[in-house]
Amino acid sequence: MYDPWLRGNGDRWVSSPQVECVYDLFVKDLLLENYKAWDIAKIRNLFIGPVVKEIIATPLISSVKEDKVVWEEERNRCYSVKSGYNLAMRCIFRSDKHHVEGNWNDIWKAQSPHKTCHLLWRLCRGCLPTRVRLAQRYVDCELSCPVCDDEVEDDIHVVGFLKLAIFYKNNIQSDVSTSGTTS
Ligand SMILES: [Zn+2]
Repeated sequence: MYDPWLRGNGDRWVSSPQVECVYDLFVKDLLLENYKAWDIAKIRNLFIGPVVKEIIATPLISSVKEDKVVWEEERNRCYSVKSGYNLAMRCIFRSDKHHVEGNWNDIWKAQSPHKTCHLLWRLCRGCLPTRVRLAQRYVDCELSCPVCDDEVEDDIHVVGFLKLAIFYKNNIQSDVSTSGTTS
């Protein structure tokens, strides 16, 4: 009774607390001996009402001779990394722990190249792999910025560097276009 074996979309574990002897039982122990049917009297004796109903409602298919583990996220019941990833993402988004309030979709609606939106999103979610963040994650690396070697490379430094880069880009572009028109 340690596995989530009940059917349905809700909680698949047999709810606890249960009488102590239940914890050592397997599903097969709830079947009649030498006959593929639930031992209803035994089940009623061991479990509470709603659990009894759920167990008895579980169909016992006579053509199935042996139980096996299947991956229900795929039609062919075989595990794939893709469906495993999708399931993990659904679990993460469902849990409040990883939910951050805000209109995050607005970032993706911005009229900017996708890589810029992605950079902004990572910056806002605190997952840009700056040297300071890498060091916090126990990566053995220098903290100083590899571009200017002047300050530590954290989020704020990256933002400052980006602003500087945009400033230069705009000014160099306007200089080039101005000199292009005057010559
Ligand atoms: Zn720098």
